Amino acid sequence: MNPAQTVSLEYYPPRDIAAQERLVRSAKRLSALNPAYVSVTFGAGGSTRAGTVDTVQMLQNLGSEVAPHLSCMGASRADLQAILDDYQARGIRRLVALRGDMPSGMGGDTGDLHHASELVAFVRERYGDQFHIEVAAYPEMHPQAQSSEHDLQHFVDKVRAGADGAITQYFYNPDAYFHFVDRVRARGLDIPVTPGIMPITNYTQLARFSEMCGAEIPRWMRLRLQGFGDDKASIRAFGVDVVTQLVAQLLEQDAPGVHFYTLNHADAVAQICANLGVR
Ligand code: FAD
Repeated sequence: MNPAQTVSLEYYPPRDIAAQERLVRSAKRLSALNPAYVSVTFGAGGSTRAGTVDTVQMLQNLGSEVAPHLSCMGASRADLQAILDDYQARGIRRLVALRGDMPSGMGGDTGDLHHASELVAFVRERYGDQFHIEVAAYPEMHPQAQSSEHDLQHFVDKVRAGADGAITQYFYNPDAYFHFVDRVRARGLDIPVTPGIMPITNYTQLARFSEMCGAEIPRWMRLRLQGFGDDKASIRAFGVDVVTQLVAQLLEQDAPGVHFYTLNHADAVAQICANLGVR
């Protein structure tokens, strides 16, 4: 890892006291990695609004630079402005701006803004350069996109609307990332595209997530993981090994850093970073 490359971490708002205690333990332990920032997810439709703010505050109290995620799905302009004003007052300087997906069962009103590009433009129009804005990128294409070309064009649109950087959906095939970055550069965009890294600790959960978000688990990995059955220790050991190799290759080939989807657990991320000599 060269000095310009960064580690950042994603957490989500815990749902109960036990989960909150686990998050605090994980965040304290992973702060040893000196993350450039930590991000906190936001449930579209405002479903985790209070939990996101509480988690942002807790992580700020631990001394981290925090980037709340903000999704426009289901929100009015007034809702978004109230959240952004609150973040501004709390000294937040970084956001991850998303469209989001409406949680099942919430249905109804999709809100005033319909694409992440509109949210980025809204933040820039009302807050100028006060926030550093990251957006989502999909090396293996967003599952609802009409085509890979349309998806790339929509990505270009949200960068041109004012994004400073992008974090990718997770992937296990590094070529998908390198190819995506080449296509972004060919469109004349030089923003950092940071790979999102999903550690592997639970195959059933990973397979379900991947089905929903369109991230491919390569066949050889799927077969190995399936072959471990309920042997959690072997799944974890294999996962740490595979993801360490993936991150090493991405960093060697000049990715600007890595953003770990921690799922509020420290072990796998700490182990991968230790393997790579990241302190
Ligand atoms: P967009 O960039 O708006 O794209 C969504 C889809 O619409 C794509 O298929 C795109 O091609 C298409 N599109 C875009 N613009 C147009 C247009 N003008 N016309 C037609 N089609 C268009 N979800 C959450 O709910 N909370 C989170 O905290 C969260 N954090 C995330 C963090 C990262 C790093 C990533 C990669 C994803 C995250 N997600 C989160 C998931 C994300 O909200 C979903 O993938 C969602 O479906 C798309 O959000 P987006 O911001 O990428 O949307």
